[in-house]
Amino acid sequence: MLKFVTVAREMPEKRPSSLRRLDFHEIYGEYADVKAKEQAARCSQCGVPYCQTHCPLHNNIPDWLRLTAEGRLEEAYEVSQATNTFPEICGRICPQDRLCEGNCVIEQASHGTVTIGAVEKYVTDTAWEEGWVKPIAPASERPESVGVIGAGPGGLAAADRLRRAGLEVTVYDRDDRGGGLMTYGIPGFKLEKDVVMRRIAQLEEGGVMFRLNCNVGEDISFHAIRGEHDAVVIATGVYKSRDLKAPGSGASGIVRAIDYLTASNRKSFGDEVPEFDTGELNAEGKHVVVIGGGDTAMDCVRTAIRQGARSVKCLYRRDRANMPGSQREVANAEEEGVDFVWLSAPKGFTGDSVEGVIVEKMRLGAPDATGRQVPELIEGSDYVEEADLVIKALGFEPEELPTLWGVPELEVTRWGTVKADFRSHETSIPGVYAVGDIVRGASLVVWAIRDGREAADAILDYLAQPAAVVAE
Ligand SMILES: Cc1cc2nc3c(=O)[nH]c(=O)nc-3n(C[C@H](O)[C@H](O)[C@H](O)COP(=O)(O)OP(=O)(O)OC[C@H]3O[C@@H](n4cnc5c(N)ncnc54)[C@H](O)[C@@H]3O)c2cc1C
Ligand code: SF4
Repeated sequence: MLKFVTVAREMPEKRPSSLRRLDFHEIYGEYADVKAKEQAARCSQCGVPYCQTHCPLHNNIPDWLRLTAEGRLEEAYEVSQATNTFPEICGRICPQDRLCEGNCVIEQASHGTVTIGAVEKYVTDTAWEEGWVKPIAPASERPESVGVIGAGPGGLAAADRLRRAGLEVTVYDRDDRGGGLMTYGIPGFKLEKDVVMRRIAQLEEGGVMFRLNCNVGEDISFHAIRGEHDAVVIATGVYKSRDLKAPGSGASGIVRAIDYLTASNRKSFGDEVPEFDTGELNAEGKHVVVIGGGDTAMDCVRTAIRQGARSVKCLYRRDRANMPGSQREVANAEEEGVDFVWLSAPKGFTGDSVEGVIVEKMRLGAPDATGRQVPELIEGSDYVEEADLVIKALGFEPEELPTLWGVPELEVTRWGTVKADFRSHETSIPGVYAVGDIVRGASLVVWAIRDGREAADAILDYLAQPAAVVAE
């Protein structure tokens, strides 16, 4: 098990905002039920549910809040799970401040949002404890089969819906566990791994077949999968890390965020991870610099703190107001002792084994075509920031699927994402659908779930057409 080392630093008191991420059980113990009801009862049932329209799944939030407030938790769960395949996961990790909670009418009136995500999590966790979560048991079996490539939230949401409709579903994934970034990207302090594994087990028990350690394009061809199934869902996510080209960037001790987070998550499963044990991907006792300003960077800095880093700094070339990551995540990181070095970019690195980052200071200049102010260099402002572990969190791009898989007829955008109809999610190849990050670019779990559910419905329609044939 991963050992969390307590950092020798005074931790500020938890602010009320941290309520959102924590379970009512963890904060209020035996009063959890009371607290959930109290929060749910704060919903004014305003009649203009902006929370619902700003939830990508259009969850019927006012209804399940009302049922929770009335103590009708099982019914609240029924309503919530009707539109969301994994409500306990979204309750934990949706950036609610940008979605449902950010648009709560009470929040808009400056009274503090109803903690919608925490109630959603509480209701679904209770449903699991009480045995209200029903197994996947199709009313009847159908002869058609669907192949799903990628066991992240997009692929799993599609698999769940298709299997419930009685189809035979096989999920292919190159990893040794399902869950995609929910398993190996997002840290366990945000999303506990047993919560994800419980859903995988539910799918397996319901008859979904998993072919893990199966890299499509290497271990099996895309054409073989297309030939085996009546329809195919591509849900492979985006994994090509953007890189830095600066003098010294090849030094040891400069690592990719995905490798660093995967190692940490694997350790939490009890796996052998030599790169962690040798210290290469472990921040314990180190001066850590994370480069980037998105949510992945926030996960890296917070993981480094938990591993017992000596210091953790985050370099970002714009300022706080212009960073892409969630402001709540920045606040959480600051509370935990992370130093943000705004308006700073790496110019190079010192040491064969990294010893420091040469930092250039920036200022924000005129806006570009998108309206965003462009960072400009301040000449002569360089200085060296001490570092013996540098983590690059500069974002992800799609792999070149048409080339890797030998499928030139699979159309992609100029960014390399797969082109798919925004409603049906069908690609340029009939009967082949694509969902989640591989279509949207790096996005969110809740959007992948929505895509997966919609693609499943479109596949059911497609298979109902007399002309639906298996392409060879
Ligand atoms: C560090 C990090 C933190 C994040 N935190 C949050 C968060 O807090 N909240 C949130 O909503 N979102 C978060 N996200 C984004 C979220 O995880 C993704 O948007 C979401 O997982 C996308 O789902 P997906 O199903 O499209 O792809 P993924 O989850 O990436 O799953 C794709 C799957 O496809 C498999 N695969 C890829 N290629 C092949 C192949 N050739 N053959 C077989 N299998 C293949 C992969 O192994 C993987 O299992 C985070 C992302 C990162 C990187
Ligand atoms: S799925 Fe996400 S956005 Fe929708 S209600 Fe739940 S936490 Fe809010």
